[in-house]
Amino acid sequence: MNITGSRCQCTACGEHFNRVSTFDRHRIGNYAAPGEWSGNRGCMTVEEMTAKGWRTNATGWWVTGGSFWKPQP
Ligand SMILES: [Zn+2]
Repeated sequence: MNITGSRCQCTACGEHFNRVSTFDRHRIGNYAAPGEWSGNRGCMTVEEMTAKGWRTNATGWWVTGGSFWKPQP
């Protein structure tokens, strides 16, 4: 799979995203607060992304709709 332009792969969950903005939106939770070792920052699951109406396009990239993805009848 070629990763070019604004496309990216999440190093945490391994999913591929067609846009950096989509990648950003699948990262949820909070960063560690001062004095904490770690926050609860993490990835949405495939089920959570699907529930939001996100889909993987024909080549396996997560898209949030628009011109990249047309709903199937
Ligand atoms: Zn991820």
